[in-house]
Amino acid sequence: MDIPEVILCKFGEVVLKGANRQNFESALVKELRRRASPYGAFKIYFKQSTVYVEPQDELCDMDGMYEAAKKVFGIVGVNRAAVCKKDMEDIKRVVRDYLPQKLLGARTFKVDAKRSDKKFPLKSPEISSEIGGVILSSVRGIKVDVHNPDVTVTVEIRDDNAYIRAGQEKGAGGLPIRSAGRGLLLLSGGIDSPVAGCMMAKRGLEIEALHFESFPYTSERAREKVMTLAEEMCEFLGRIHVHVISLTHIQEELRDKCEEDYFTILLRIFMMRLAERCAGEYKCYALITGESLGQVASQTLAAIRVTDSVVDMPVFRPCIGLDKDEIIKEARHYGTFDTAILPYEDCCTVFTPRHPKTQPKLEEVMRELSKVDAEQLIDEAYATMTTETKLVYPEYR
Ligand code: ATP
Ligand code: MG
Repeated sequence: MDIPEVILCKFGEVVLKGANRQNFESALVKELRRRASPYGAFKIYFKQSTVYVEPQDELCDMDGMYEAAKKVFGIVGVNRAAVCKKDMEDIKRVVRDYLPQKLLGARTFKVDAKRSDKKFPLKSPEISSEIGGVILSSVRGIKVDVHNPDVTVTVEIRDDNAYIRAGQEKGAGGLPIRSAGRGLLLLSGGIDSPVAGCMMAKRGLEIEALHFESFPYTSERAREKVMTLAEEMCEFLGRIHVHVISLTHIQEELRDKCEEDYFTILLRIFMMRLAERCAGEYKCYALITGESLGQVASQTLAAIRVTDSVVDMPVFRPCIGLDKDEIIKEARHYGTFDTAILPYEDCCTVFTPRHPKTQPKLEEVMRELSKVDAEQLIDEAYATMTTETKLVYPEYR
């Protein structure tokens, strides 16, 4: 007989959130339900600090669902567990049939018994020692090591059933997506900004993205690359709306009318102003960029002071204190690295000055800015905005 399995998702910080706890729990359950849609009919509910993901028939794709659950923020541990009756004989039967396969390759193990049903006749140490004995007699060559085992076998006696599992995999961590409001990510085609978006999504923000292009100076392929990055981010974010605004006219005006050295910082001012407008329209209460202190001319402290001073909302820069190799590690983790390094142009690399100002002074920058009709240019550029929606899979809503 096949042994029924479930996926158990353990909460992380969510458990700590006092009065808000229910909102976090329901955000998490909702997200897991959305994620489950391509993998079959699952019953998903919350109980005793755990989200249960139960397949309703044999058609359910447990492997697919398991992988998807590992990418849901707010969950610290994911594991597949065998379900059995709260009865020692049934538990032993399942241990004998279910565990040998799961312990293949392991040299040592320990048993960790957890008994949230205090009426269960055996105490936790007694359960551990009995089950340890069953494992020793059914898995050839394996030994007990209580300090540093290759695998920990967990037997949980809960209100409804007993659950048996070997090991636990890490979940995505953080807080449930969309539990902390919405932020607008300035998404370029580079390595840093997709990472910044994922990092803030991990803290519970719903991410909306804004990309600037400069057609024909930037190509259709550069835009496609950004759309691919957005799709890749959907593995963790579920859904992203990507807004695209053309900066072509702004960049030509700056080239024709302003001093070349100020070009980069002026362009960033326009980006921030346009982003702020977009954020207002789409109810985003923070901007997010992939900036890292000192990485390039526009990311010195002086430059950041200038760009911050032109907007009236928080700007989150989660990569600010990371080195490039640390950002790359995150980019690999979130699956955006390989696309990010494809060599397409970005609007920031169009008309790049030979000597960009690294220590811009606000008055001088504003003097240069006054050489163009900034408000008119912003209105015009904003009117070019188009929007595409990316989803992790078509059924996701
Ligand atoms: P990234 O790797 O994210 O492109 P970067 O190191 O290349 O960053 P910059 O080009 O100076 O740095 O850009 C800094 C930040 O400004 C980016 O992380 C991103 O948030 C935003 N940005 C840059 N170019 C664009 C663009 N074309 N569209 C939207 N946002 C952009
Ligand atoms: Mg860039």
